[in-house]
Amino acid sequence: MSLDRRNFLKGAIAASALAATPATGFTAQKEQREPLADDVGMLYDSTRCVGCMACMSACKRRNDLPVEHTDESQLYDDPVMLSSKTKTVIKSTGGPNPRFIKRQCMHCVKPACVSVCMLGALHKSTGGVVVYDANRCVGCRYCQIACAFNVPKFEWDKALPKIVKCEMCHDRLVAGEQPGCCEVCPREAVIFGRRHELLAEARRRIKSNPNYLTHIYGEHEVGGLQVLYISDVPFTKLGLPDLGNEPVPELSETVQHGIYRGFVAPVALYAALATVLVRHRKSHQDDEGGDDIFHTHNGEDL
Ligand code: SF4
Ligand code: SF4
Ligand code: SF4
Repeated sequence: MSLDRRNFLKGAIAASALAATPATGFTAQKEQREPLADDVGMLYDSTRCVGCMACMSACKRRNDLPVEHTDESQLYDDPVMLSSKTKTVIKSTGGPNPRFIKRQCMHCVKPACVSVCMLGALHKSTGGVVVYDANRCVGCRYCQIACAFNVPKFEWDKALPKIVKCEMCHDRLVAGEQPGCCEVCPREAVIFGRRHELLAEARRRIKSNPNYLTHIYGEHEVGGLQVLYISDVPFTKLGLPDLGNEPVPELSETVQHGIYRGFVAPVALYAALATVLVRHRKSHQDDEGGDDIFHTHNGEDL
């Protein structure tokens, strides 16, 4: 059964009820949970992607991110990897018959970054989207160490650095729109929807063409991802790591707890760091006529 794209997306956005769902409680944000029926996600189909990079440009525009030059000519925005200025990147396998791969946060069902973030700066929001609250972040960068996909980036060049990663355009979802990258893709190579419907769409595409691998990357990897991939070449060739199906949080928590054993009061340390950072941010915001510190940068409660 083929899906009408417009209705599919509309339904996904409406049914996820992102605008109507109350904010996740601070104490519950670190909970690991199974996928919910209305969890959203993206499906990337490497057989459809032509590497036009419209998604990358849209991401830069809608996130107000600067260009990055890696070529000597410095004419183009041509990032080669995720960075604090690039939330999504298109990479190529090269060669005569190249395949492309879109990288960004995977919005893990059981995210290691959330698990290690003591202050809930990274947390799951409505739709299962992993979002970031700079006002809760102390800059410890445990999330960078914990993420198996090497996604969170740190703004080393800023006086008040933040962690940068794709938040699935959560503010757009709240407004009933779809992520910027999905909206502009001319090939439906990256589409947005409810995760379980994206899985059904992936299976439909795989069934319709024997060239596809039957494996959907992200269905089970590290406990499941909300960004799913299908391809006609091995995922490792596209640069997606073979990580097994065990959720990373169990591992990272074990490591983290091992580190903490012997420390008298890690929470007190975090609290002290948080106080310093919040004071810094508050004074900075006061200078700028800023908002309540426990709101996001766009002023909305998530
Ligand atoms: S890919 Fe990394 S940053 Fe994104 S949710 Fe998973 S652990 Fe967190
Ligand atoms: S969902 Fe938004 S932030 Fe994430 S890659 Fe797409 S455009 Fe960029
Ligand atoms: S816009 Fe679509 S086709 Fe173009 S690079 Fe991005 S995912 Fe590929």
